[in-house]
Amino acid sequence: MRLLIIEDEQKIAETIAQKFKGEGFAVDIANNGMDGEELIRINSYDAVILDILLPKQDGWETCKNLRQSKILIPILMLTALEDISDKIKGLNEGADDYLAKPFHLEELVARIRSLIRRNSVVRSSKIELFGIILDLNLQKAFREGKEIILTAKEFALLELFMHNPDKILDREFISEHLWDMNFDPRSNVIESFIKFLRKKIDKDFSKPLIHTVRGAGYIFSETGR
Ligand code: CA
Repeated sequence: MRLLIIEDEQKIAETIAQKFKGEGFAVDIANNGMDGEELIRINSYDAVILDILLPKQDGWETCKNLRQSKILIPILMLTALEDISDKIKGLNEGADDYLAKPFHLEELVARIRSLIRRNSVVRSSKIELFGIILDLNLQKAFREGKEIILTAKEFALLELFMHNPDKILDREFISEHLWDMNFDPRSNVIESFIKFLRKKIDKDFSKPLIHTVRGAGYIFSETGR
């Protein structure tokens, strides 16, 4: 999952980013509306946290521009203004949800997860495939009934595979969805995470599910290729 935070108060942006990184998200930050809109147009994010009072272009304008361009990415608007008319205005400009400052980080995470789920084809909070169950609410993974302890990043990688079974996922696709814009394409961090994940989900089972397709990427499948 990749998240964009558009927020000009650096401390708040950093606090939110830290929290979501701990939950396994890749997170980018933009500190004004124009940069934020630009990033959304070039990267693929699963959701956006958008402050209302921003330099260059405020949250309402940013939201309106995106919706006018038919960019339907889930947007949660964040603001210090507790006025109900602001909430209505935000929702009218096409925001999907709204949270007033101060808020609890846990609530923000829960709302973002729910927005992403609402937007996804898989609406359920559980994904089941090839004997693996992912509980997205509890962030727990099971294979053949046995719980598999994963880090947040490993969980996000497995979730990405489970949303794209029997399809070759190349490094670019994986990094685009799970890492932020500081990702170094020459690093072997993806290979390392695949190795960790394999150890956990494939090692003790008869049928491996994560297969390497030489020169192309990885495929999550019962049969390999
Ligand atoms: Ca602000």
